Amino acid sequence: MSAAEQNVLILPGDGIGPEIIEQAERVLRTVADKEQLNLNLDHALVGGAAIDATGGPLPAETLAKAKAADAVLLGAVGGPKWDGLEMARRPEKGLLGLRSELGLFGNLRPAILYPQLASASTLKPEVVAGLDLLIVRELTGGIYFGEPRGEHINANGEREGFNTYRYAESEIRRIGRVAFEAAQKRNKRLCSVDKANVLEVTVLWRNIMNDLAKEYPDVELSHLYVDNAAMQLVRAPKQFDVMVTGNMFGDILSDCAAMLTGSIGMLPSASLNENGQGMYEPIHGSAPDIAGTGKANPLATILSVAMMLRYSLDAATAAQRIEDAVSRVLDQGLRTADIASQGETAVSTQAMGDAVVAAL
Ligand code: NAD
Repeated sequence: MSAAEQNVLILPGDGIGPEIIEQAERVLRTVADKEQLNLNLDHALVGGAAIDATGGPLPAETLAKAKAADAVLLGAVGGPKWDGLEMARRPEKGLLGLRSELGLFGNLRPAILYPQLASASTLKPEVVAGLDLLIVRELTGGIYFGEPRGEHINANGEREGFNTYRYAESEIRRIGRVAFEAAQKRNKRLCSVDKANVLEVTVLWRNIMNDLAKEYPDVELSHLYVDNAAMQLVRAPKQFDVMVTGNMFGDILSDCAAMLTGSIGMLPSASLNENGQGMYEPIHGSAPDIAGTGKANPLATILSVAMMLRYSLDAATAAQRIEDAVSRVLDQGLRTADIASQGETAVSTQAMGDAVVAAL
């Protein structure tokens, strides 16, 4: 019996977006063929490309298709051509609109450093070679969205800015579940990051994580204060498997973890909602400085395809095949310009895509 058809919406976007998506789509089609996955791939416009064609960054047709899809694969949006537009009409609004319309509250950001690329990090190779950690960040709540917020004149007559850090129990539980389930798919260790020595909201966070742990007896839960977590990330990052934290701490720690690897062109990401529906994209932007030159590294997008297969399409074997293929291609010495060391010859976006397809 063949599996039910799953719908994937592909949004190439702007700049290097279409170039890296082209390679990622070839990889997806190849692995779907080999693993006999029943996928229906569709395409739509978002960001600057959508502005040019329709006047807005998130056309109704794109949003409807995204809502109906099991997963969305996105390249990147934005570029100097649209920088002069007012905030509400800029390409980035297309992305934010998708995140909020799809309710994507769970952001998964792996930081993986393939041993072959250890010299790309600013840290010593022995500290980072083989690093493989996953940061799970709450994306739609916390201090970035808490009310009340704003600026007023306080009782002393001076200007005062304020924000509110709040999390409801349900918000903590659902991101906690995403993290525990991700840990179950990996090495079964979860570190929850908070500031429970100072912030009541994160005392609640810690208590709920402890509560949830009873439902996941196969996962070992630990806790760190965020300041210590930041230190540990640069001191001994390989101690971590999965980390879970709120929106603001996650924003900062995930960028820090990404930079441990030294190669922005290698890192994928996923944003999930309560139904397991997700949007998958490289962490980098549209790189207008190299768009059209064939220099873009497609591996972050190709690895986003692997995440999509694992987290939304229930195809872990296919995901692993892609990750193994990427590792083999690096073993063979292929490097795009962003990950080539001095003296190494860089290959093009297309050649890197060809090599991954061949390795599959
Ligand atoms: P960027 O990530 O696009 O580029 C930063 C640097 O990294 C550039 O030098 C670029 O050439 C390089 N780089 C990025 N991806 C690469 C890849 N795959 N291979 C090789 N090199 C790569 O960030 P930026 O320059 O700050 O932003 C450019 C545009 O992208 C802006 O319009 C910004 O708003 C947008 N942006 C979009 C997203 C997104 O779509 N999710 C994220 C960040 C920035």
